[in-house]
Amino acid sequence: MTIDFEAIKLQHPLIEVVEAVAGPGKQSGNIIRWNCPLPGHEERTPSFTISLDNPNRYYCFGCNRYGDVFDWIKEQHGIENLIEAVKHLTGEVVHMSDELKAQAAQRANDLRFERLERQVAEQQIAIDKLQEMQSWQIYRENLAKSEEAVELWRAEGLYPSWQTHFWVGVAPNFYAGKSLTIPVKNYASKVQNVIHRIIEPGEGGRYRPELPGLPQSLYFTDPWLGITQVMWLFEGEKKAMVARQHAERKEVEHNMQFVGAKKHIRIEDVPLFDGCQKIIYVPDPDVSDEIVEKNALLLGVDRVTIIDLIGKTDDMLIAGELDGKTMLSAGANGRKLS
Ligand SMILES: [Zn+2]
Repeated sequence: MTIDFEAIKLQHPLIEVVEAVAGPGKQSGNIIRWNCPLPGHEERTPSFTISLDNPNRYYCFGCNRYGDVFDWIKEQHGIENLIEAVKHLTGEVVHMSDELKAQAAQRANDLRFERLERQVAEQQIAIDKLQEMQSWQIYRENLAKSEEAVELWRAEGLYPSWQTHFWVGVAPNFYAGKSLTIPVKNYASKVQNVIHRIIEPGEGGRYRPELPGLPQSLYFTDPWLGITQVMWLFEGEKKAMVARQHAERKEVEHNMQFVGAKKHIRIEDVPLFDGCQKIIYVPDPDVSDEIVEKNALLLGVDRVTIIDLIGKTDDMLIAGELDGKTMLSAGANGRKLS
């Protein structure tokens, strides 16, 4: 029996075979990554890779296993014999007619083309996003020119005197209409992202669109402060801003960093907190215990204090139900982790 291995590979592209088990991977550049789907390797950061330059091979940087679609089948099913692996993959069909081979080759080509098109579309989004990033100054100028815009931000709990500090702004024509804008600054005080909050999203619209292409990040209310001994961690940029200005206004010692983050803090961002001895974590009331505990573990249980609030931090601050002073002294009454 002769087996046309190359034809079988064409008929069963490795990426498709892997996706059938592991779901779609995350592509950046020419590399597609997954959390390693091989038996015996559990992980939270994706090390299992396929390069589009060589899409018939996989390599896992975590467990150092590599190979082609046949090795994949062997690993997945604990099969040692190559012929058995071939049978498993093809469902016993190991011979292909010329016609089938041609079809398979065509399909492989189509897939490559589709992937390429997707890549181009993703890059276009990234380019749009880059242009968007550079427009934050214009948004900021819009705000200075419009009393109505200032009022919109005031209604969101930001004192006008702080607006220059946070560089917030207004975009008149973003997606569905007007949006408030928050530039996200990194440690070097460079704007690396602009976040929009659509004011009137309309029927079925989204209040805060997520634009793919560039990563969301931690938001530091004061990038110049650097890593301090104490950090306050809120969900989202606006809460961090509002909390910081309130803390300062209430003359609480403010030599501390206020950070806004997404519900799911990214593991790779956690080292940023290394120099920090105390982290006050203020999750929204609707966040599950499971997520709160997971985040607390990431941040280091022995230095984290969790504050449970009955309402959303910024709403409470704006409504005067919580001032900066009580908020900061509440740190002593945090809940204990189980
Ligand atoms: Zn692995």
